[in-house]
Amino acid sequence: MNIELVTIGTELLLGLTVDTNSAEIARHLAARGVRVTRRTSVADRGEEIRAAVKEALGRTGAVLTTGGLGPTRDDITKKVVADLFDAPLEFDAGVWDSLLERFARLERKPAESNRSQAEVPRGATVLPNRWGTAPGLWLTGQPGLVIMLPGVPLEMRRLLEHEVLPRLAPPENRSVIRSLLVRTSGVPESSLAEQIGDIESEIEPITLAYLPGLEGVDLRLSAWELAPEEADRRLGSAARLLRERAGNHVYGQGESDLAELVLDGARARGLRLGVAESCTGGLLGARLTEVPGSSDIFMGGVIAYHNAIKMELLGVPEATLAEHGAVSEPVARAMAEGAVKRLGVSAALSVTGVAGPGGGTPEKPVGTVWVGCALGGVVETRRSRFAGTRHEVRARAAQAALLLLYRKLSAGPVS
Ligand code: AMP
Ligand code: MG
Repeated sequence: MNIELVTIGTELLLGLTVDTNSAEIARHLAARGVRVTRRTSVADRGEEIRAAVKEALGRTGAVLTTGGLGPTRDDITKKVVADLFDAPLEFDAGVWDSLLERFARLERKPAESNRSQAEVPRGATVLPNRWGTAPGLWLTGQPGLVIMLPGVPLEMRRLLEHEVLPRLAPPENRSVIRSLLVRTSGVPESSLAEQIGDIESEIEPITLAYLPGLEGVDLRLSAWELAPEEADRRLGSAARLLRERAGNHVYGQGESDLAELVLDGARARGLRLGVAESCTGGLLGARLTEVPGSSDIFMGGVIAYHNAIKMELLGVPEATLAEHGAVSEPVARAMAEGAVKRLGVSAALSVTGVAGPGGGTPEKPVGTVWVGCALGGVVETRRSRFAGTRHEVRARAAQAALLLLYRKLSAGPVS
């Protein structure tokens, strides 16, 4: 089944409220095999609501709206949709009684405007709302199906779960839209795509999407409207093929977090881990300590932002800093070595780079980052050039450092 979402509220268009309803509804519908084919947001204006709902019905014949069901003048969804269906609004005594009960329970008096909430388009099914005053409505007719839910996320969520999903996708349907992520890092999207090649025809009906982000490029495999077991089986074999093609750019699958994998790898080898951070200013330590249970192997780190701290706490030679500058291979190397010695750890990561927006030079433009990894008496370093804002460069730098150690840990026994 296909459906379109229309979220209603001027606050959504002003950007004052983020449209979380759409995302939440889409996730739930996908899990039940219902495909959301379009999402539209419109202001609390009659003609715009009418046009959006009408056009959506023209395309898919099924629309789910949120918002505009309250008692105030700007809440006009019900009226507009009733009009579209040529269904007059009729006072519903049952709805009114439950509203009165709710007000009595809360020791409040209904306002005159609340009466309008008991009006129901003729022929509509009322979806009782025990969590608020505006019931949901389910209206079918010549134009198609319109499901109207309140905008308040908490009420929307409960009505969706208790009233909408069981009607729209009864459990016996057993069809799902399911996705599986294969996670890669350290490779640009275009090179990765070239390496993977035309895999789509081999994994059909599974589809593949590239999702670049701060931690790398995630490869999303999706199964559309299959039985759950069939979806999982096909996703599994597509993932195996994809991992073969993407090779060692892949570090994990599903919810995998690189910091967690690094900690697992270090733990398996009985390593104790430390960090020396300049431009990331603690982000790398934060990534590692975000993982529950990291305390057994993560010893700590030094935020060596100023050169004085690089020298004093990490023993980076003054001459190295003077000769090569703080953002350089020798300094990344000396920082990692210093962390091993001063922190008494068996593996250490270092980061030094130009996060920007200022501080770039022709030789070391903004986004230049050196990461280092000391392990088993060997230091490996790597230079990257990241695009993006200060925030992005720092996040990518932390990920690059983790990736360096992850690669070494996966490569084989420590020499
Ligand atoms: P309404 O049902 O239109 O009276 O919406 C009530 C409140 O729900 C609004 O003031 C917003 O804070 C919130 N809301 C409405 N639509 C959405 C949406 N699509 N996503 C998240 N919150 C929303
Ligand atoms: Mg509203």
